[in-house]
Amino acid sequence: MNLSALHLFVPRLRRWAFEFGLTDRAARKQAGVRMLMHHGVGGFYKAKALDEQLAWIKRSHSVLPMDEAVNRLRNGKSLPDFAIVLTFDDGLRNNLTEAYPLLVKHQVPATFFVCPGLIDSGRWIWTHEMRERLKTLDFDQFITLAEALSGTHFGAIDAFISWMKQLPNSKREQTMLGVRAGTAGFCPTEQHHRDHDLMSWEELASLDKRLVTIGSHTMSHPILSSLSDNEIETELKDSKRILVERGLMREPALLCYPDGAHDERVTASARRHYAAACSTKKGIVTSGVPLFSLPRIGGNSRIEDVSWRLWRPGA
Ligand SMILES: [Zn+2]
Repeated sequence: MNLSALHLFVPRLRRWAFEFGLTDRAARKQAGVRMLMHHGVGGFYKAKALDEQLAWIKRSHSVLPMDEAVNRLRNGKSLPDFAIVLTFDDGLRNNLTEAYPLLVKHQVPATFFVCPGLIDSGRWIWTHEMRERLKTLDFDQFITLAEALSGTHFGAIDAFISWMKQLPNSKREQTMLGVRAGTAGFCPTEQHHRDHDLMSWEELASLDKRLVTIGSHTMSHPILSSLSDNEIETELKDSKRILVERGLMREPALLCYPDGAHDERVTASARRHYAAACSTKKGIVTSGVPLFSLPRIGGNSRIEDVSWRLWRPGA
């Protein structure tokens, strides 16, 4: 079978396997909790798709709050088999406007991971801002700006942003200033605001605490493994302190590493301040899983892909 035929065949196979309950049956043979990782809702991932998924999840699985799953893991208690934990990263406002009404409608709990250091500034997650700014340039302008800032040729925006992720904090911030200067005319559209604006403190406080648990996604969403020891400690310690002071975070304190990036220094700092931390490593949560590198499964707008991943987390 050639590649294009495979592209047509795989989605149909997944749909068919979902509709006949085959992926569900196969997944149930593997014990463990599935933590689903979501980001924005309302753009590519429509609220209608999430609505259908939550209805399906509610019908066929139990949904466990993440703090309860973490407490069970810490206390050596068994995990309910095949339960789902819902997580939403980044603290986007569309999580409040698009996803939260559906959590209320279906009465399913979720954890929102937010960045306290960005809320007052009105800034976006830096990767979102850089990508949208760079997308306003034509290709030659992008190449020239990227080369001026990095000394390297980058053929694509994502490659340049990946390079930025590896930079020490001060150099990354300097590069961000360069991108802002090189895209000074950038004027966010309504759609940009819907995709990237973050929830305010008032909006976070308005969420029903019985349904939504707030966790830290660090102060400013840096790639933690590229920071100095002191910077890591500040990002993890201050974000927890602010969320506790605001009455938004309770025990067990939960953390999510931006981009999933963590090394031994990061987990050592996380252990000092948190009870558990999510990564972006793909997998199923079972009793032996490391609490400071909890695996998740990527959320997807297609229900058959989610069902498939509950069986094959890496697919
Ligand atoms: Zn994030």
